[in-house]
This record gives sequence, structure tokens and C-alpha cells, in this order.
Amino acid sequence: MTARASVGGTLVLVATPIGNLGDLPPRAVEVLRGVALVCCEDTRRTGKLLHHAGVSARMAVANEHTEAARVAEVVELLGAGHDVALVTDAGTPGISDPGERLVRAVVDAGFAVSAVPGPAALVMALVVSGLDTTRFVFEGFLPRSGGERTSRLAEVAAERRTVVLYEAPHRVVRTVADLRDTCGPDRRVALARELTKLHEEVWRGTLDEAAAHLDATEPRGEYVIVLAGAARVVATTDDDAIRAALRDELEAGATRRDAVATVTAELGVARRRVYDLATALPRPTTGPDRPDRPDSPGSPGSPDSPDSPDMDDHGR
Ligand code: SAM
Repeated sequence: MTARASVGGTLVLVATPIGNLGDLPPRAVEVLRGVALVCCEDTRRTGKLLHHAGVSARMAVANEHTEAARVAEVVELLGAGHDVALVTDAGTPGISDPGERLVRAVVDAGFAVSAVPGPAALVMALVVSGLDTTRFVFEGFLPRSGGERTSRLAEVAAERRTVVLYEAPHRVVRTVADLRDTCGPDRRVALARELTKLHEEVWRGTLDEAAAHLDATEPRGEYVIVLAGAARVVATTDDDAIRAALRDELEAGATRRDAVATVTAELGVARRRVYDLATALPRPTTGPDRPDRPDSPGSPGSPDSPDSPDMDDHGR
């Protein structure tokens, strides 16, 4: 069944569907049928899955509270040469779910650990996001409040790789608003909702648009937030370089608002700094950047207004 690294049984982490029962890997059924015990978060939920798969197996709860207490029984079974499976309510065990402690204990006890790979919301969300998949970071759930949340948000904002976050539906509005305030309104994001289910939806846009979208439609179901990495920080970000980049944009016909957005993104410097330099530049007498633009500093709600959050400014 699985490669054995030692004498005794094997602990097998079995991935289960994240919504669509058709996604249960065929090998998962075979493994679940052959083990002496299936550790799970919720026997009712896993019972339904086993019933669907036509498997009858002994189950025991190994959730976030009982995982450590389950170790002795699992190790004893492995020692007697039996295999044990670990499943969670959905997806891959150990990914924002129980598993890590049991795996470590079994490894420490000298028994083999294997897996039947399968669904994981983070992988599906990443690959359908349309964002850069070459390098990414999985953040799981952000801390709910306090300094820990603030510092993690700052880390996420400065992260250059694509960031994947999990969030509960009743907290997604606040998390997207916090991300917008920390990363800036223009950062690209994908909200992957109810993946593999009837109401699967992947919404793509900027953080500002995402916040408006979530305000307009009550968040329902499970969400993965996939966030584009921070813009590349270039070596030359002195004021002259920023002014020159702004002039290039303006001379090419960009409005002041668009020039600020483009230069902020391209140079990876604080938007407020670019804005201040842009307002100090002499206004062109011709062209589209007319003085009566709605992006003037006093425009309420304008992303460029002085009271808007200072985006991308994380000590750079
Ligand atoms: N172990 C699971 C995995 O491999 O993806 C993750 C479990 S974690 C407790 C639950 C979170 O995963 C949800 O809050 C949501 O962020 C994400 N998630 C799980 N299923 C999902 C789905 N069908 N669509 C979107 N997100 C999902």
C-alpha cells in the first residue's frame, strides 16, 4: 500500500474533498478500507464520507483539542503492525487543520508516515487566481486581533511573493479591508469562494474593488484570498528618480492620479511620497492633467487624498 520506512504500521494522511464528493481520490478509498483506525475531526462528518465511499472503518476523534491525546493509541496500533489513517473535515490534513502534531509524534516514535494527496483549497485557489504562481507563500488564517494581527498584516504587505490566506465568511470583509489599508487599494487580489461546490466563484480585481464587492454582496461560504506580491523595490528611489518617472508618465498623457498610481506600483515606494512629489511638480499647461481633476488632495474618498491610508509604506 505505502512505502514503509520502518517495522510496524504506517500513518497515512488522506486528503478528502473540499466540497465535491467526486473529488475523493480512488486510492483514498482503498487506504481507508485497509486501515485499523481512521482518525478524524468529526465522526459524523467523516462517517458520511465513509458511507459515500462504501467503507466501514473504526473512527476516533483527533481534532485540535484531542490530537495530542490520540497519539498513544495511534502509536500502539502502528507498533502492532496496523496502519492508521488521518483525515480532516475537508482537504489535506495538516493544512490549517490537525495533523502536524500526530505526524511529529509518529515520526519520533520511528514509524512511517505517508499520504494520499488530493484536494487542498490553497492550491486550487492559487492556480485559478490568475496571479503569479511561480513563487507563493501560504499564510493560513491571520491572527484575529491585536499587535500580532497588525505585524502579520505588515509582513503580508511587504511580501514579494503571491500570498494565499484562508478566511471565514464572517471575517472576510474585515480582512480584505485591513489588507487594503495595509497593502494599498491598487494591489491585485482574487477571492476564491465555495471551490468545487455549486456556487463556486472566483472574483478578481484590486483590494479597493474587492472591499466594495464584499460590501455589496453578503459574503457566503468559504473563502481563500489570493493576494499579488508587493511591487518590486528598485535600487534608485531617490526623489529625482520618482520625479523623472512622474514626468515620463505625465508627458505620455497620463493624468496625475494615474501617474501616481503607476509610479507607486513600478518603484515600490510609498504612495504618499509619490503623491507629494507629484503635487509639487509644475502643472502642465496642456494635456489631460488639468488642475480641476477630482483627484485633488481635498477630494473626499480619493485614493490620493491626504487622509487616505498610506499604502506600501513599510519602512522602505
Ligand atoms: N485542510 C483544508 C485544506 O486543505 O484546504 C483547510 C481547512 S481550514 C480549517 C478551512 C478553510 O479552508 C476555510 O476557512 C477556507 O478558507 C478554506 N476552504 C476550505 N474549503 C474551501 C472551499 N471549498 N472553497 C474555498 N475555500 C475553502
